[in-house]
Amino acid sequence: MHRIILVEDEEHLRYGLEFNLKKEGFLVTGCSSAESGLDAWRDSDCNLFLLDIMLPGMSGLEMLETIRQKDQSCPVVMLTARSDESDAVVALELGADDYVRKPFGVSELIARLRRILRRLPQTGVPLGTIGPWTLDLDNYRISRNDQVMALTNMECAILQLLLANPGAVVSREDLLEKVWGPGMSTLTRTLDNHVARLRRKIELDPKEPTILLTVHGIGYKLATNSN
Ligand code: CA
Repeated sequence: MHRIILVEDEEHLRYGLEFNLKKEGFLVTGCSSAESGLDAWRDSDCNLFLLDIMLPGMSGLEMLETIRQKDQSCPVVMLTARSDESDAVVALELGADDYVRKPFGVSELIARLRRILRRLPQTGVPLGTIGPWTLDLDNYRISRNDQVMALTNMECAILQLLLANPGAVVSREDLLEKVWGPGMSTLTRTLDNHVARLRRKIELDPKEPTILLTVHGIGYKLATNSN
């Protein structure tokens, strides 16, 4: 059973979401502020955060940053009332997995949460290798010798999609649609930033990648015989 920490300061919306999410079989901890959300996180495990952006005190974006400092892989979905696209882009840059604009339909929200929870690496994913790295995507990490590198949920999802197509180019549109979701194909800069961050983790020289290769004008692929 998945536990969701929901932070929403508008009471009627929080109660409504709690009610509907519980009805769908989620365990929900509803909080009215980011501070109490972080307290709840200290007290219990969490499989997904659902965070409003506009909150009294610490904002949802600040809470997202705090979460990402401690946990790079737990999915975070932002709720935003602002029509401003920049909030959503900032949230994705800070490591949010998705965002939903208010007002939203509960069934759409639940479908998105389920999609994100399904995308989490499943237990039993075999260990593989890319270049010199041994993959342990179950635990969001890769290692070589005694060096262990933590990956974010999105970095794992990007690697999984590339690994599913060994040696083949995966287009940016495909990566955006399958990792971020339908309708996200315009966020190419966000994808490129995630790839750049991933390269800083896995490549000897991120400027001259030998593992995660760019195919200009199309997308990305994993090298087949890199070391
Ligand atoms: Ca609010």
